[in-house]
Amino acid sequence: MWSLSSRLVCQRALSLVGGTSTFPSFPMLAHQVLSIFFMLMLILPVAATADWYKQEQSIMGTRIAVEFWDEDTQHAAQCAEQVFSEMRRIDALMSPYKPNSELSRINQQAAGQAIQISEEMFSLLKKSLHMSQLSNGAFDITFSSVGHLYNYREGIKPSEQEIQQSLATINFRHVLLDEANRSVRFARPGVRVDLGGIAKGYAVDNGIAILARCGIKGGLVSAGGDSRILGDRGNRPWMMGVRHPRKKDAVAVMLPLSNTAISTSGDYERFFVEDGKRYHHIISPRTGKSVSTTWSATVIGPDATTTDVLSTTLFVLGPEKGLQLVESLAGIDAVIIDAQGQMHYSAGLMPPATEAADSGTEIRQ
Ligand code: ADP
Ligand code: MG
Repeated sequence: MWSLSSRLVCQRALSLVGGTSTFPSFPMLAHQVLSIFFMLMLILPVAATADWYKQEQSIMGTRIAVEFWDEDTQHAAQCAEQVFSEMRRIDALMSPYKPNSELSRINQQAAGQAIQISEEMFSLLKKSLHMSQLSNGAFDITFSSVGHLYNYREGIKPSEQEIQQSLATINFRHVLLDEANRSVRFARPGVRVDLGGIAKGYAVDNGIAILARCGIKGGLVSAGGDSRILGDRGNRPWMMGVRHPRKKDAVAVMLPLSNTAISTSGDYERFFVEDGKRYHHIISPRTGKSVSTTWSATVIGPDATTTDVLSTTLFVLGPEKGLQLVESLAGIDAVIIDAQGQMHYSAGLMPPATEAADSGTEIRQ
């Protein structure tokens, strides 16, 4: 679990990159982190990598990575394959792009009638609606009512008129769940839902559960910006680097983590720029447009379903309201980088004024 000891290592690592809670100078920061990292590489004994089994595949429109300690390569390959096939199963169920997915069936039919859904889908919808309530509508899976009109790869966006017309269909209260019948109904036509802000975290959690059942004691499963760590990395934490939102391949901050989940939502994942304006995949349910107040939001917490939902939520809320929400939740910490490049930390991650750094073997993002 993300415990006090994890927080302490984290504080040490943050002191490694500076002494204050905001970092106006990103290039400097990334540079410092990288040089210290390379120095440590020279002087610290590096954990043997020979028995760290690593595999990557492209599933759910993202890069899925599985890495864990297993001396039996055949056993490792079997376990990794179980994780990948679980990801493919979830994709088949929850992809908005697959016309036969359970999610697509809901979008096609639930405006006309209540439709019965799987227990798994019901519980994810329920969790999504709970987070909508908690965030005052910042996290809202009905963003899709307008969200589906964007195509970031092809640079397509809805017209102002289309956005205005769709706004009335964006409201999580339009999604009506019936616990007794395990069914869902939309309160009005035109409502659509999309689980892009929660499904990958959920898939990562299921992947970690599979590794644990395989008897793995130390490992990592990640799906794009959502990762979860099982145990540690051979008696030391995993060094998780949060990407610099505006500098390719640079790290904004490093966090040494064990037995915890971490998710980052950034405006650099899926976007296009038109007339100097960035159109990206995190949508404000109030405006139907991309949120422009945040560059990235990173959340650390006990499981990846929670951190995935929260990273999207905090991205929408921005630093002030976002950190207010984080401080009201137990076991959650966050780093938010605003649209001026300033970094904002939750209380559990506040760097102490002085403390020496002594950790760091590897950068991951
Ligand atoms: P990714 O890892 O795909 O970058 P994020 O965790 O950053 O995902 O969440 C972005 C995804 O969440 C979008 O692609 C979209 O599917 C969904 N999304 C966008 N805006 C919202 C919102 N306001 N509420 C809930 N989900 C959203
Ligand atoms: Mg997310």
